[in-house]
Amino acid sequence: MQKAHDAGLHAIVYMNQRLWCVDTPSWTAENAERWAVRERDGQVRKETYNVFDPLPCAPMDVATPFWRNKYAGIADTVIHQYKLDGLYMDQAVLSLACWSPDHGHPLGGGHYWMDGFRELARDLRRRGGALPLGFAGEGGGESWLPDLDAFLTLQVSQERYIDPASGWEVLPLFQAVYHPYAVTYGTYGSLTWPPYDDLWPVASRPANAMTLLDTKYRRQYLLEQARMFVWGMQPTIANFLPEQLTARRSEIDYLERLARLRYGLREFFQGGVMLRAPAVTVDSADVLMSRVSIYAARRGGATEATVRSPMVLAGAWRSSKGQVAIGLASITDEAREVTVQLDARMYALREGARIVRVDAEGRRTPIGRVARGAQAISLTLPGLSGTVLIVE
Ligand SMILES: [Zn+2]
Repeated sequence: MQKAHDAGLHAIVYMNQRLWCVDTPSWTAENAERWAVRERDGQVRKETYNVFDPLPCAPMDVATPFWRNKYAGIADTVIHQYKLDGLYMDQAVLSLACWSPDHGHPLGGGHYWMDGFRELARDLRRRGGALPLGFAGEGGGESWLPDLDAFLTLQVSQERYIDPASGWEVLPLFQAVYHPYAVTYGTYGSLTWPPYDDLWPVASRPANAMTLLDTKYRRQYLLEQARMFVWGMQPTIANFLPEQLTARRSEIDYLERLARLRYGLREFFQGGVMLRAPAVTVDSADVLMSRVSIYAARRGGATEATVRSPMVLAGAWRSSKGQVAIGLASITDEAREVTVQLDARMYALREGARIVRVDAEGRRTPIGRVARGAQAISLTLPGLSGTVLIVE
């Protein structure tokens, strides 16, 4: 961590926010069952996730001081002893109803779960003192907005775990509503096969864990990166290893390019309000998707699917100063002619306002002025590039 900090890098670690496995010595020694979530029938709720090492775990009730203190105590060690910069609190942003009669909360429904989580979040920040810590949770949820810094929205890579043939299409609805108030991030988008934990049974370890995926799936990754950019998400890559800096240079360049572009224009892409994306005229193509998720491929190998996608994705944002930005991300290797339909009325743009094109290197080039009504703006996008049109 010291080496990372010296290099200007910050790290948060995974720390599940509610599970305690019931076969552990500590479960008995600390009488954890007393503070576990109970179902309507009075039984302790049990959840089992890992198909290779199927240990039942009990969700603990965050409304109880016992569990909050236990969790905050571990967090304290992680933050002060190991010097981490925060936590990814898995399964936070999911709440449960608890029917335990002696936890001091109403049976079943109520707002005790949120009250308890808020207490926990306050305690974590209090223990952190002046440290600039970050806390993230799983999923997007309105009730957690005041208490968490970042929200894991893996749906950007949904095809990796849900068959597109099921008919579900991902829409950035959470970002559309809450973008200025919440940093969303995260993806299963990876250039490798999923990892395998050293603590899981050796016998079921696949030979390909963390080895590079076939490049026939690269456009899936590019599409995921492009979505993150035009949806205003924090750019993320899953399962990164240094070998990818050389073996998958163009894919990493793409991530870097979009990340820099976003970073230079955070008033739109991090703090802005999402607007309706403009219509963009560009060709579409089938994108081959690998369906390997995290565990899914382990039983029976990978499956594939295809989705139809435009070769340039678009998003639109309004900054707090009232400027509008159109973000464009190309997922094709060749340059593309695109036409962006800019509707002055839809975005409430002033006629004559200057339109500036910003590229990934930060160069700003004036390309015209806003016309009355709708106007078509033709552009050439270099391969695998990001471009932003700002209406000043
Ligand atoms: Zn309870």
